[in-house]
Amino acid sequence: MSIAEARETPAVPPGRTEVDVAIVGAGLAGTLLALSLAKAGRRIALVDPHRIHHDEFRAEKTRAEQMGLFEKLGLGTVFRSLATPMTDLHVFRFGQLFERKQAWEYAFSYTPLINGIRAALPPQVPLTVGKVAEVSTGPDRQRLALTDGSIIDARLLVVATGYSEAVRRAIGVERIEESKAHSLTMGFDLAISPQEFGLQSLTYYGKRVADRIAFLTIFRIGERMRANMFIYRTVADPWVRTFRENPQKMLLELMPEIAERCGGFATASEVEVRQVSLTTSQGHRRDGVVFIGDAFATTCPAQGDGIHRVLTDVDCLSATHIPAWLETPGMAADKICAFYDDPIKIAADARAMRASIYARRITTETGLEWRLRRLRNNTARHLMIFARRFREAGKPATPHLAQEELLSTTQKHMSGDCAPAGNMIVSELTNP
Ligand SMILES: Cc1cc2nc3c(=O)[nH]c(=O)nc-3n(C[C@H](O)[C@H](O)[C@H](O)COP(=O)(O)OP(=O)(O)OC[C@H]3O[C@@H](n4cnc5c(N)ncnc54)[C@H](O)[C@@H]3O)c2cc1C
Repeated sequence: MSIAEARETPAVPPGRTEVDVAIVGAGLAGTLLALSLAKAGRRIALVDPHRIHHDEFRAEKTRAEQMGLFEKLGLGTVFRSLATPMTDLHVFRFGQLFERKQAWEYAFSYTPLINGIRAALPPQVPLTVGKVAEVSTGPDRQRLALTDGSIIDARLLVVATGYSEAVRRAIGVERIEESKAHSLTMGFDLAISPQEFGLQSLTYYGKRVADRIAFLTIFRIGERMRANMFIYRTVADPWVRTFRENPQKMLLELMPEIAERCGGFATASEVEVRQVSLTTSQGHRRDGVVFIGDAFATTCPAQGDGIHRVLTDVDCLSATHIPAWLETPGMAADKICAFYDDPIKIAADARAMRASIYARRITTETGLEWRLRRLRNNTARHLMIFARRFREAGKPATPHLAQEELLSTTQKHMSGDCAPAGNMIVSELTNP
């Protein structure tokens, strides 16, 4: 029986199940938490309406810092087996090569990532495929009634339903829009092979304020070259429709300097588009239930902090709060609030929100304050380019990390021999 077939078998018979923790939503946050708590011997129920995580455009890249958290949760090997690592990042600003960074990044497709992590669930934590019909929460016991009539009774309920509103609403927790339609993420494949592309990763920052482009990043997922572009527009903007109709023409106009390297921007897939608002929660400090990941807050994908927030929530809950909560009777709001007031969680959420707001303002605002800030930043960057050119004038060209050396580093990493290298980053300017 294949893993997929095994997962088709309803593992929890309809009836009544009693567990320590019931988790609703088996996306990244819910599945990681279930795995982590199961390892500690907790009795868990994990509920999701989809047996196989449905295909959707979500996070496709993450950094060394997050890899460290996957390792801490004991999931480094699982994550590595589902991701394509990169170590050599080419950054373009002002239409020219600005910086070449040696830093670990990891690319993946979201759906296979979630399905791969789900496949690592131990037999004692089956995925219960079902829809929640009723939820009741309280200071001692939480009760989920599913549409097939089965009941899950738990000491703690964790809501990890991402953007979905049904369970949040049933509990009475509101989503507050801090910045509506904050940004738009576009994803598409380029019709060029990784070998033809030649670089592991390329990031190109928008040149003009009027373009409202944060950046385009191109990276390898397996044998595909994938592009993510982050822009500050709404789905209704005619610019977006024009881009979707002819991405090649628009990219040639916007980024001619990298066109040749990108195979003339010929695309090999539809342009997927997702609008994201910045949101927080209200009314979540209550008995018996805790909200995590995107079910608690959403931030801008351009900053790549969504996965970091998810991992921080899972780590704080599984390492600190849930073990402490289960040790004593009851699950009243004062226990739950210790999680929302955890300085580590607060810092991760605040950093993501602050960075989301700053990045949009520095890219798009036209008031004097922001024009001056841009001038300051861009002057500093131009000086860096000038200083680098001055230093290197007359010297032989800087040797780049040889392809074979990179390959062997990557292979070592794939086999787990390399430590996550957040601290081995050498930021280096190279000749444009
Ligand atoms: C286009 C895009 C690009 C992004 N790029 C990045 C990036 O590059 N880097 C980064 O760090 N972050 C990125 N993010 C953010 C990141 O994807 C999210 O923060 C993260 O995936 C949230 O995980 P989650 O588990 O909270 O939600 P999800 O993974 O969405 O999980 C929610 C789960 O709940 C289930 N569910 C829904 N309703 C119910 C219900 N009623 N009952 C039971 N289950 C239910 C769903 O089926 C799903 O399995 C991006 C987001 C978007 C939209």
